Amino acid sequence: MDEEQRKRIEEAVAEWQKRLGLQHWDIEVREEVLDEDTVAQMRSYVGRYKAFLVLTEAFFIYTPREQSECIAHELIHLTQARMQDQLRSLTRNVSLDLSRAIVDLVNIELEYMTDKIAQLLAGVLPIPNTLTEGDEE
Ligand SMILES: [Zn+2]
Repeated sequence: MDEEQRKRIEEAVAEWQKRLGLQHWDIEVREEVLDEDTVAQMRSYVGRYKAFLVLTEAFFIYTPREQSECIAHELIHLTQARMQDQLRSLTRNVSLDLSRAIVDLVNIELEYMTDKIAQLLAGVLPIPNTLTEGDEE
């Protein structure tokens, strides 16, 4: 990701933040190597409105529409950050197996929900301009 790409993505993130009412979050965009089937990941700090949107090389192969949906998806996860924090403290005193089972179940269901909402929103809201700029078609 070069500086130009980072700027464009940051502007698209800001656009989606506004749409989702998440302007109070401080989000930094960075590129990293993640698991093979992970394109992007949102990392937030417990008790803070600070997060990193981590993108892999695969993100840059996506079409602007797919990038838009991917950003929406990752940002929607921020609306779940407080619940995740609470889940972590609720499962602190149970066995590791039970804690894992609960966290896995919640995460799988959240993933389905997040995917569905992101699909719906990205399907009806315009692709942020900065994701389509410089696209020769
Ligand atoms: Zn997700």
